Amino acid sequence: MKDSTPTSSKNAARAIGIDLGTTNSVVACVIDGRPQVISGDEESALLPSIVYYAPDGRSLVGEQAGRFAEHNPERILSSVKRFVGLSADEAAAQPLTGLALTAVATDDQARIAHFDLGDRSVTPVEASAEILRALAERARAAVGTVGLTVVTVPAYFDDAQRQATRDAARLAGLPQVRLLNEPTAAALAYGLATRKSGLYAVYDWGGGTFDFSVLRLAAGVFQVKCTSGDTALGGDDIDRVLCAELLGALGFDEAKVDARSVRKLLQTARSLKHDLSREPAVRAQMLRADDTEVTLEVTREELDQLVLPLLLRTKRIVRRALRDASIELKDLDGVILVGGATRMPCVISFVTELFQRAPLCDVDPDRVVAEGAALQADLLQNRGKDLLLLDVLPLSLGIETMGGGFERLLARNTPVPTSAHTVFTTAADNQTGYELHVLQGEREMAKNCRSLAKFVLSGIPPMKAGKARLHVAFCIDENGLLTVTAKEATTGTAQVVEVVPSYGLEKAQIDKMLLEARALRDNDIEARKLAEFQVHGASLVNSVSEALISDADLLTEAERVEIVGSVERLRRGLKSEKRSLLLELLLEDLHALTASFNERKVNRSIMQAVTGKDLRERV
Ligand code: AMP
Repeated sequence: MKDSTPTSSKNAARAIGIDLGTTNSVVACVIDGRPQVISGDEESALLPSIVYYAPDGRSLVGEQAGRFAEHNPERILSSVKRFVGLSADEAAAQPLTGLALTAVATDDQARIAHFDLGDRSVTPVEASAEILRALAERARAAVGTVGLTVVTVPAYFDDAQRQATRDAARLAGLPQVRLLNEPTAAALAYGLATRKSGLYAVYDWGGGTFDFSVLRLAAGVFQVKCTSGDTALGGDDIDRVLCAELLGALGFDEAKVDARSVRKLLQTARSLKHDLSREPAVRAQMLRADDTEVTLEVTREELDQLVLPLLLRTKRIVRRALRDASIELKDLDGVILVGGATRMPCVISFVTELFQRAPLCDVDPDRVVAEGAALQADLLQNRGKDLLLLDVLPLSLGIETMGGGFERLLARNTPVPTSAHTVFTTAADNQTGYELHVLQGEREMAKNCRSLAKFVLSGIPPMKAGKARLHVAFCIDENGLLTVTAKEATTGTAQVVEVVPSYGLEKAQIDKMLLEARALRDNDIEARKLAEFQVHGASLVNSVSEALISDADLLTEAERVEIVGSVERLRRGLKSEKRSLLLELLLEDLHALTASFNERKVNRSIMQAVTGKDLRERV
């Protein structure tokens, strides 16, 4: 599979696949039958899943957002996927996020998580939409009009998390969206690329989630046999345990430490973790709680010890999924590794031991999900029924019964699309309303399951207890999304209520956001350009100002005066200018004036490198 940005006919709408990751996101499309990842301006296929919200309301995504990490970390949102579709309480339960979270009550009193940026709050859906919009723009620049889009989600995402992801895609202005489970996408790309058939396990450990699925790959049919996972178990958790360890070693009190220090240490922990995938031990300079500096060494062995409890959690998930599907280890033909966290040597050896075989490493874990999504998008848009993809429901769905129990209507691992129905009756004479509580989960009591929707079927004609016939039907579409229909059927005039469970953001709110986003789109493009020039301009002013001092001897006085004047104009423009065009002109001016100065600087560096001496020292 090729790495480069595709070049192709830009006329027809092109189906694309998006891996919307916790840490990084990737967009791909199929060109000449092969999936190709689309690189961005910075030549990287991975778009960091981070969003920067400027105080004036504009936003930047990816590397551009990352430039603000050092100076404005409190306006940066990262790992938002972990909060998508969660209630405020669920979001607040996540440890050591380094993000400020607030709860805002919506009309139906569902409290959904918002990120608090001080002057505004942002929902995880809105932040995810920014990332999706940036990826769609990347795709548009490479292949023209974007058609059907497949967005991947962790297989273990429940209905609320799926609905939220789909809303984010709508908010991003994607015209036609389908959801696909990440391990299924990976297996699709793997199966189609290698033309292998058999029973394959996908062990997918990304930044925020762990997913495990087993699929049967055969010519033209990809059938998911079982799926299981944990949507709050990812590489981020490794960062957190390491960060907690570092906090202790540096003398911080975990309960009292401020969000800024946590954010910084989480970043340090992540880069130590990455380095430890290559080196047996690494050192880093850090600040103790009392502000004194210290150099700490962390060994791979120490990190492995911290990761072990998390690995054992993945083992329990794998065991349960295999047991559910009555699959034995010897039945498997291979194990495919997906997700950045599977780069860690301890994960590879753990998987090798668990499955009693070396995992297959012939796919790039960073790209395979987007490639699979692109293949599925292409198949859906262009090839119809060439390939049959049979996915399953990750968690059981049902309703609350009298006494707070949970009655399953659809069991986990049921192939989708699917539907089921049940019949209820009234408990009291002349009861004219019936409250239905839709839930998802594996526990016996309703209070331990995920609440998806509550609604009242009203207008039941008065009759004796037990006489009414309330039909409740659950319907899961090919995206794994649920619609619930309820009707009273004894009387000729049945009342039908159709509910799409929501996670707290109502359809009207999403529609309003959508309208606002559309109205702002043109402004957004200009605003984005302006923001880019501002970032670029600020760094140019700094670097040229520094060079004017350090390499002053390379300039004539006339040149120096001209450059100083241009720097000043740009500096003033950065403060006051609201149009991108003028900033662009100021930038061009400074670039032109410093071109020959830069050449002289480069020549001097080369000379110094060749002679190994500082020329000024010799004079
Ligand atoms: P993904 O969601 O698949 O992009 O995976 C992201 C997760 O993989 C993050 O937690 C990263 O810190 C982690 N990761 C990426 N590369 C490495 C590496 N070389 N060693 C350890 N973890 C990594």
